[in-house]
Amino acid sequence: ESLDQGLQKTSESIFSKLSKAVVGKSKVDEEILDELEEILITSDVGVDTTIKIIRRIEERVAKDKYLNTEELDKILREEIAGLLEENNSQDFLDFDIPEDKKPYVIMVVGVNGVGKTTTIGKLANLFKNAGKSVILGAADTFRAAAVDQLILWGNRVGVPVVSHGMNTDPASVAFDAVKQAVEAKADVVIVDTAGRLHTKVNLMNELSKIKRVMQKFIPDAPHEIMLVLDGSTGQNAFIQAKEFTKATEVTSLAITKLDGTAKGGVVIGISDQFKIPVKYIGVGEKMTDLQIFNRKEFVDSLFK
Ligand code: GDP
Repeated sequence: ESLDQGLQKTSESIFSKLSKAVVGKSKVDEEILDELEEILITSDVGVDTTIKIIRRIEERVAKDKYLNTEELDKILREEIAGLLEENNSQDFLDFDIPEDKKPYVIMVVGVNGVGKTTTIGKLANLFKNAGKSVILGAADTFRAAAVDQLILWGNRVGVPVVSHGMNTDPASVAFDAVKQAVEAKADVVIVDTAGRLHTKVNLMNELSKIKRVMQKFIPDAPHEIMLVLDGSTGQNAFIQAKEFTKATEVTSLAITKLDGTAKGGVVIGISDQFKIPVKYIGVGEKMTDLQIFNRKEFVDSLFK
């Protein structure tokens, strides 16, 4: 799906509510700002980030007492894009992996059901299409079917998957995946991990062990620790981000399922609250439904 299609539900919801709020008014007033606050909160931007955005708009209203309602849309976009920029939501995917980061090691974390496996498959496809060789490591050995699903994705995309089956030692899978990637001079290795948040100590231990074995081959691995969050779960995604950042360092975010929700504002809130760049967004179930996050395009699609 295109970004516009993917964000349609959120964008329609914001647009229709905002249109109602400004109807018959030519100037931005308190009432409109109150309504806007509610709109942002119901889009799951999160209370703190919403307040921040409203304050910034209030400042602009105060500066120009006659701020027209037609301008509200433009100002909203500017402020939100500015916020995303400050929070380092870079528009990036550097497919030109530096020589000293080959293979580029990505460790993927996230709870079951958020779309972790699917995102890894889609990501492998993005890299492959950019001409990079990819190896996947099926180190989510805890959940039934996670290994099989990753193998399925590997076949679909056409990239090898290192796996030892279910209930095997995740660190040993990670070890073999990185080893193979080094030997094969692969460009990228993406390692799936289990996401058992309810046993946080276990999770922390498991992730540290995985990191340690990777570092036997590549001292600065993993180069990226990506947390996958389900954008349609709103506040749950915030909670998961909080828990995972306590258990491990997280260097990038992939936010999935934005196509199925009117709560796409979660991308803005999470990026703002956690100061972690959103790198990818999921807008559908197909292989090509993972997009590199671009803050300007995102905001433009949101306030169509
Ligand atoms: P995991 O348990 O975290 O590995 O989750 P899966 O990758 O198995 O995904 C769970 C479900 O979410 C599957 O049915 C996927 O097709 C679906 N899914 C994943 N990403 C997206 C997305 O961006 N949009 C939609 N609509 N569905 C998605």
